[in-house]
Amino acid sequence: MTRMLPDATFANRTVLVTGGGTGLGKETAHRFGELGARVVIASRKAEHLDPAAEELRGAGVDVLAVPTDVTRPARVAALLETAVERFGRIDVLVNNAAGNFYCPTADLSPAGWKVVIDIALNGVFYCSREIGRHMIEQGGGRIVNVVATYAWTGGPGTAHSAAAKAGVLALTRTLAVEWAQHDVRVNAVSPGPFHSDGAKKRLWPDAKTEAAMKAQVPLQRFATRHEVADAITWLASPFADYVNGEVLVMDGGAHLGRGLTGEA
Ligand code: NAP
Repeated sequence: MTRMLPDATFANRTVLVTGGGTGLGKETAHRFGELGARVVIASRKAEHLDPAAEELRGAGVDVLAVPTDVTRPARVAALLETAVERFGRIDVLVNNAAGNFYCPTADLSPAGWKVVIDIALNGVFYCSREIGRHMIEQGGGRIVNVVATYAWTGGPGTAHSAAAKAGVLALTRTLAVEWAQHDVRVNAVSPGPFHSDGAKKRLWPDAKTEAAMKAQVPLQRFATRHEVADAITWLASPFADYVNGEVLVMDGGAHLGRGLTGEA
């Protein structure tokens, strides 16, 4: 397999991926592992974490799986403690965990709103604050947040997630400036749709919806998880050391206007 970065780019580095047991998080954990990193994966469910950890170990990655609910600050503090106990430090944090479901806003209950905001925005704050303080203390680190283009275009049908991602984008830019003096770089990647069990089930459950979504993309396809994970590793790597507070959009051009092509 061809790789974008040299094999030992993350040798002696520890990378923590939230939501690292499934979808993009799992792919990202694999990519960092292939590049020499020790990897910590954290999410709520053992049924996600255990098989992913097994898979990573099978691929030769030094991995630690820590059951964690990112909406609970005390659990996030315990995650840091467990990871540091095993690996001594955390060099890279990927805030990937999120929740989402389709619902027109007029029908969205306060509880539904809160649950998504709690995971996708508050959880990113709790993890960034806890791990960021650790990075400041150790003299540096890298944070990559996973957002989505509806952070700035708006997200009809997913107002909760769009609002959460807009908040994460603001947090990305804020922390990039606050923490630059400590050599903590903070960036974001903004993928268009890509296949994961969670996204497919909740956002494009049938072939017709999927085809309609692909038709909106100038490149006429979804991203692959591999492509997005590669971008995350690059943003966290020394090759991006002067990139700070930036968001790398990878949506095949979907958020751009169509001009005279006459399409939506
Ligand atoms: P996914 O497979 O459903 O991943 C979500 C992950 O978050 C799961 O591993 C889940 O694990 C974890 N999680 C949920 N609640 C949590 C909590 N309270 N504490 C800790 N972990 C929690 O979805 P995905 O499609 O790969 O999404 C990954 C990221 O990409 C998300 O930030 C998403 O918003 C973003 N994104 C996705 C798309 C897309 O089309 N798929 C497009 C743009 C952006 P547990 O259930 O074990 O907790």
